[in-house]
Amino acid sequence: KKVLIIGGVAGGASAAARLRRLDEDIEIIMFERGGYISFANCGLPYYIGGTINERQKLLVQTEEGMEKRFNIDVRTHSEVTNIFTDTKEVEVVSNGKTYKEKYDYLILSPGAAPFVPSIEGVSLDQIYTLRNMEDVDRIKEHVTKNKINKAVVIGGGYVGIEMAENLKHIGIDTTLVEAAEQVMGPLDFEMAKMIEKHMIDNGIKLIVGDAVEKFEKGNTLELTLKSGKKLNTDIVIMAIGVRPEINLAKKAGLEIGERGGIKVDSNMKTSDPYIYAVGDAIEVEDFINGVNTLIPLAGPANKQGRIAADNICGRESVYKGTQGTSIIKVFDLTAASTGNNEKTLKTQGIPYVKSYTQSGSHAGYYPGAFQMTIKLLFSPEDGKILGAQIVGRDGVDKRIDVIATAIRAGMTVYDLEELELAYAPPYSSAKDPVNIAGFTAA
Ligand code: FAD
Repeated sequence: KKVLIIGGVAGGASAAARLRRLDEDIEIIMFERGGYISFANCGLPYYIGGTINERQKLLVQTEEGMEKRFNIDVRTHSEVTNIFTDTKEVEVVSNGKTYKEKYDYLILSPGAAPFVPSIEGVSLDQIYTLRNMEDVDRIKEHVTKNKINKAVVIGGGYVGIEMAENLKHIGIDTTLVEAAEQVMGPLDFEMAKMIEKHMIDNGIKLIVGDAVEKFEKGNTLELTLKSGKKLNTDIVIMAIGVRPEINLAKKAGLEIGERGGIKVDSNMKTSDPYIYAVGDAIEVEDFINGVNTLIPLAGPANKQGRIAADNICGRESVYKGTQGTSIIKVFDLTAASTGNNEKTLKTQGIPYVKSYTQSGSHAGYYPGAFQMTIKLLFSPEDGKILGAQIVGRDGVDKRIDVIATAIRAGMTVYDLEELELAYAPPYSSAKDPVNIAGFTAA
């Protein structure tokens, strides 16, 4: 059996490793357009800010490592430019040479590319996006060589906020511009406002509800916003979201979903029986409301890669949807969410009740406890948990993961009351914040 994989990072590398674990004899070739495989995309902003100070640490697995450990033929600087489904071949361009490679099965994990809107001046060379090692090297070089003083980050999602914090961390005067009325789309308005206040308290100049209309180059880069406001900066980081990379799939005639991602079934199979697709490039079913959606996160990409490999090796393996569990550090705060937020429940017409609780991260009499706010959304009929958002300092990660697990298991707010969670004063209270959320909701 011969399996080709397109994309050598989260989903692609997971699929490759799983294929090898399941079958020692499969021939596996992994193509990666860029120069690196298996790098830590999620760590990139922290390398700019210096928290991760060795570039090497971002390279989780190298080409040689993958070849040696898993006997996988890794081909970097190799872009797959065509898929011929009738002859089961791909066309590869590498260092100016074009060749074809046959497959029995093909796995697509091409990811999603940062979206760059068509704004006047957007192609100026001080405007950067952040996706891979090449991008991070370019930004790092510009920031350190030119000793820049001012930065503008456009977009208040995860990448935008992480970049703003990291640029501020290295002493750069940073402005974040967000077109919507709030940062952090996965959170509801009132939860996001806690994050915004904290960003401002930590010196980020935050502009929400305003969008960039024009970039112009003078001594520095000048931005004109919709409101007429002008900003001067030495660098712009454009982080307004990503779009699935579907060109290749489209050209090959694979079905594309309504949301613009590659369509797959629950086995990760595309409309072609020999082609699987995973990761940021595909549409997934929302675990809560069942509607197809795009959720570009590393955990789902890795799991889907594994599932595609299972199915190719004859193990019936099913993906049950994505609930969008995510978390972010914003200076001293942590914000996390799982399941649907109020905005989504409203849009989908799903009835819900909400409750808010404030609890200490651990026993108040033991030093270092901080309050966290939990917003819980649940069904008025049976108390089934539909979503949760938490903003706090310490212990937010643990609580969101407990609730995320409860959602996976189809639990209700009554179940949250009953959960027996670990307690000693440095870690929690006899009534854990998750129990309290359950008590209040039930
Ligand atoms: P990718 O990991 O993007 O890999 C796709 C690869 O395919 C790319 O390297 C691309 O070069 C290659 N490729 C595309 N087309 C071709 C072709 N035709 N031929 C050959 N190669 C091709 N997620 C989280 O859950 N938590 C986080 O904290 C987090 N932080 C992030 C921070 C940043 C800065 C970024 C950019 C992303 C972050 N993510 C995070 C998202 C996460 O990295 C992605 O969800 C995940 O990497 C998706 O995996 P993937 O395999 O679908 O795509």
